[in-house]
Amino acid sequence: ERARARPPRARGRRGQGSDTAAGWRRGTPGVRLRRGRRRQGVPGETGRCRDRAGGGHGGVASEGSARFTWAVSPACRGRTPAVVMASTDARTRPNILVTGTPGVGKSTTAAALAEAAGMEYLNVGELVQREELHDGWDSEYECLILDEDKLLDEMEDRVAGGGVVVDYHSCDFFPERWFDLVVVLRVRTEVLHERLTKREYSQKKLNDNMQCEIMDVLLTEAKESYKEEIVQDLPSNSIEEMEANVQTLAKWAADWSQ
Ligand code: ADP
Repeated sequence: ERARARPPRARGRRGQGSDTAAGWRRGTPGVRLRRGRRRQGVPGETGRCRDRAGGGHGGVASEGSARFTWAVSPACRGRTPAVVMASTDARTRPNILVTGTPGVGKSTTAAALAEAAGMEYLNVGELVQREELHDGWDSEYECLILDEDKLLDEMEDRVAGGGVVVDYHSCDFFPERWFDLVVVLRVRTEVLHERLTKREYSQKKLNDNMQCEIMDVLLTEAKESYKEEIVQDLPSNSIEEMEANVQTLAKWAADWSQ
């Protein structure tokens, strides 16, 4: 049972819209553990333990198109009984979560995907700021402290009908049933460094996020939090790769809805 394997809930979670990936700190020595926890007892949850053995994902980023092909195959709909229960009960269109380290291109890709697929784009970081779904500012990590309860309450109705592309740099606290596909964007280290440098992050924040990407933090988090068959990592180093991703994901969404 997932909930039992997780630590008691700490209210609030760092790492919201100001772009510091919260997941990295889980593995950072000396940093206080402030993990979120999914809601319990929600119909449609698979009950899978999130702390089951994960990892084993070597390398910085996967390249090439072979794995992408897998992403658009019907198998990617994850039609195991648990996922069917979780994904198709209340919606006729899929929800897609686009996640990854800050700077990998989530917002650009997710917005383009939403437009191409005729879906709604939901930028969670912006939502948190706009609706003040946080407990203030964390000056150490230079980010807002996310109030998960408020955020999940706010999002529940928005995703219920499907057809939403959600963009956020963490993924382990959303109810598993919300998503039919979890896309983890990846970029090469030097590419990410260049993008984050343009954002004029502090050296600490830049280093934190670089480490997050190098250590596969978001990919591991996604694979520990969702069925592996619905988690897809995609390279997004170039505009060409992003356009290919958008095209293929939009087709996947269209196929899912049929
Ligand atoms: P995130 O939402 O993950 O923080 P953004 O979508 O804001 O990332 O992208 C960060 C920067 O990188 C932006 O300037 C964006 O235009 C650029 N970018 C995003 N994806 C790509 C890509 N595939 N190729 C080149 N530049 C990209």
